[in-house]
Amino acid sequence: MLRLTDIKLPLNHQDADLTQAVLSKLACSAQHLKQVSVFKRGFDARNKHDIQLIYTLDIEVDDHETLLAQFANDPHVRISPDTRYKFVGQAPKGLTQRPVVIGLGPCGLFAGLLLAQMGFKPIILDRGKEVRERTKDTFGFWRKKPLNPESNVQFGEGGAGTFSDGKLYSQVKDRKHYGRKVLTEFVDAGAPDEIMYVSKPHIGTFKLVAMVERMRAQITALGGEVRFSTRVDDVHIENGQLIGLSLSTGERLDCQHAVLAVGHSARDTFKMLYDRNVYIEAKPFSVGFRIEHEQSMIDECRFGPSAGHPILGAADYKLVHHCKSGRAVYSFCMCPGGTVVAAASEEGRVVTNGMSQYSRHERNANSAIVVGIEPEKDFPGHPLAGIELQRKLEEQAYALGGSNYDAPAQLIGDFLNGKPSSELGDVKPSYTPGVKLTDLSEVLPDYAISAIREAIPAFDKQIKGFAKADGLLTGVETRTSSPISIKRGADYQSVNVQGLYPAGEGAGYAGGILSAGIDGIKVAEAVALSMLENSELD
Ligand code: FAD
Repeated sequence: MLRLTDIKLPLNHQDADLTQAVLSKLACSAQHLKQVSVFKRGFDARNKHDIQLIYTLDIEVDDHETLLAQFANDPHVRISPDTRYKFVGQAPKGLTQRPVVIGLGPCGLFAGLLLAQMGFKPIILDRGKEVRERTKDTFGFWRKKPLNPESNVQFGEGGAGTFSDGKLYSQVKDRKHYGRKVLTEFVDAGAPDEIMYVSKPHIGTFKLVAMVERMRAQITALGGEVRFSTRVDDVHIENGQLIGLSLSTGERLDCQHAVLAVGHSARDTFKMLYDRNVYIEAKPFSVGFRIEHEQSMIDECRFGPSAGHPILGAADYKLVHHCKSGRAVYSFCMCPGGTVVAAASEEGRVVTNGMSQYSRHERNANSAIVVGIEPEKDFPGHPLAGIELQRKLEEQAYALGGSNYDAPAQLIGDFLNGKPSSELGDVKPSYTPGVKLTDLSEVLPDYAISAIREAIPAFDKQIKGFAKADGLLTGVETRTSSPISIKRGADYQSVNVQGLYPAGEGAGYAGGILSAGIDGIKVAEAVALSMLENSELD
């Protein structure tokens, strides 16, 4: 197979144009071309009156060698890399030890799946409920039922990404093509085939729920075991080696290999690990608000006359502004045609995030507009100080929202002018249980407020209407990434506890569904190799 990159065609081209573009590029005749398949399809909408589709194609031709020699100096004609996943080993028959995976978010799901596929029969523990039960609790909370601190947007089967936009792209370096393995498994579990080739795939909430269930079924069919409502409350360490876990069920589970994939909201678990001297450092994260505009405004601004084109879908954006103060403000987790969701996992605290369905047909676009903060400057003195800052901001938001899980909100115009809001404009809030109009400047530190006030008008220069007075801000967004890093070495084990494999977003090694899945694969390989090495020594 040969791979051709950077093949550009107009948005409304015909299927046959693709083959024609290949033939013109290679200056060869149709009878030499055996097959053309799309590896990736992106688009360039910088000129909205002439949007181009950009293809990466895999082609089969009669004589690869001659063509390659002919195009030796063209970086856009190369051999297609082999992106198939290869397992690092298989568990020997009769292996009695079983690895444990703590957390069934994307990281734990892929760590567990890979270990199961390699024959290691993992035991997977999650503090939350199986995904259907969890969905009832989470949607119940959004309809004003009480918050269940163990079953919500953050905790339970599927992890934090289950009720999300399901964006499946990441900027991590992926030389071994682990991302392809993640996408392939998702397609096998029911995701649309297009996630394999569109440049910014997404699957939305409801598809994810069913996919996660199918992947769990595969793990158990391969001899793995999944236990829900089972929180790890303690780790037992002897001479720097993990030897067991205490569970919320009262059981003690002996284990020498545990993947710690607990996500960024397992604050009690972080405290427990810190108390057990597992090495943890504070790390930068970001805080801010969710911003909502009408999706039609974003579509129009980005795609002009092509707004609504089925290939383009609902438009997204990615914005960054470097403030005079040296702070960076950026958009994060943009959800086209989606809703703002209540993402709290602790009582008496309000947190926002965003989600959408596959169709992305809701009226509003939302994204987090956040300010980067750093331990040295903004929460110094203790590895867990970032968690305390998050809690303080979430409590302020809860109080400002009326102490009933409504979120505090403000119109963009009022926020920029420093006056409390009292009446909604055209943009209707999508957050449930509900919002309370107020003055959001009370909820974040002054440096963050002034940075966001500087950034929004700057963003308006890129997306006309972004600073529109009746756009809406809802607070607070505090869980953009983990406030800590649980340090691991080159062998993927904690730097001071052998057998403990910090992984995924909570440990600071991923940010998003795809990168968490990739990290799960890497850690599963490390666990497998270590177990195989030890089983040879036995
Ligand atoms: P998590 O997904 O957080 O999973 C951790 C799991 O560990 C949870 O299931 C939890 O119940 C369990 N757990 C915690 N503590 C314990 C314990 N002590 N014992 C047992 N189990 C425990 N990312 C994207 O790429 N695209 C998106 O569109 C997107 N949208 C999002 C929308 C929302 C509303 C949210 C909240 C997040 C979104 N994200 C998105 C981020 C993404 O979900 C996370 O980056 C990803 O889920 C991290 O995966 P993880 O496996 O590392 O951790």
